[in-house]
Amino acid sequence: MPSKTLGESLFERGVSRRGFLKYCTALASIMALPPTAASAIAAALEKAKKPSVIWLEFQACTGCTESLTRSHAPTLEDLIFDSISLDSHDTLQAAAGHGAEQAREQAMKDNWGNYLLLVDGSVPLGNPGFSTIGGVSNLEMLQETAKGAAAVIAIGTCAAYGGLPKASPNPTGAVAVSDVIKDKPVINIPGCPPVPVVITGVLAHYLTFGTIPELDLHGRPLAFYGQSIHDRCYRRPFYEKGRFAESFDDEGAKEGWCLYKLGCKGPITYNACATVKWNDGVSFPIESGHPCLGCSEPDFWDKGSFYQALAQGQWGSAAGLGTAAAVGIAAGAGAALLARRKQHQAREEQP
Ligand code: SF4
Ligand code: SF4
Repeated sequence: MPSKTLGESLFERGVSRRGFLKYCTALASIMALPPTAASAIAAALEKAKKPSVIWLEFQACTGCTESLTRSHAPTLEDLIFDSISLDSHDTLQAAAGHGAEQAREQAMKDNWGNYLLLVDGSVPLGNPGFSTIGGVSNLEMLQETAKGAAAVIAIGTCAAYGGLPKASPNPTGAVAVSDVIKDKPVINIPGCPPVPVVITGVLAHYLTFGTIPELDLHGRPLAFYGQSIHDRCYRRPFYEKGRFAESFDDEGAKEGWCLYKLGCKGPITYNACATVKWNDGVSFPIESGHPCLGCSEPDFWDKGSFYQALAQGQWGSAAGLGTAAAVGIAAGAGAALLARRKQHQAREEQP
């Protein structure tokens, strides 16, 4: 019996055509496409076959899976997740032991060359025994499972850039998925954890267009990581006017002024938090009064200086920022701007 299309599955689950179109319009908006693209997305998604997805979890805290599954129903994430065939997920599946391994092997066999491989967590190279599943090292399992994948998606900063496990002194020799897989497209969806809508949005893009999205120089989909937190931050008018909170409980903080001096890394951090937000669009860290820590940037943990202004930390153009620290916050803001310009320039120069 032929497998159902996504449209058939959704309509069988009681999703109305109107609700489906509304969902596609929201999707077009998330992907920064014009509203007219919604009908094209709807037509493509309706006919799409459910892709097989295998999700492997390596050196991680499970936060990325939590991020996706803690959302409240019914959401875009639910709809998208219902639209895939999650054939193997070490954390979510009921099967354990040999049964779990068989599920992965069967999914690979049945969908060779076509399945998507999602990975969260970093890969330890220091010792094959540091992290194993069913006695198989993470490295071996990644290499073996990636062979038949159409594409590999690295979910979260650990999989995308090594993350916390890779932080100095990196006792396990942790590396990113892209350090191991060189012969397949690897899409990075960094964040600690990543925004759930971004995870599902990338899956939706694949379902709709059958291709991987356009990526930036750090392997991130430009549709979601093309603008900095600062570019879309609602506190930006205060930044422009030089109104900064000096402590977490001063009058500036109470008035909602810019958090730059409290360590905000928004000016050089690329992610969708300020637009799609968290918890079904309720809020995001800066809206809750906390500066952006830069969790979707490479080496964010080792760069540290979470509560120091950019001018004083190791972010962006380190040499320029070091000088800027001596002349105060205004120069620091200028150095941050310079770092952002350099990032933009690097993006434009990439092939
Ligand atoms: S520095 Fe941070 S809080 Fe201030 S405008 Fe930029 S992103 Fe928003
Ligand atoms: S606001 Fe910054 S630190 Fe917080 S989740 Fe978004 S990118 Fe990560």
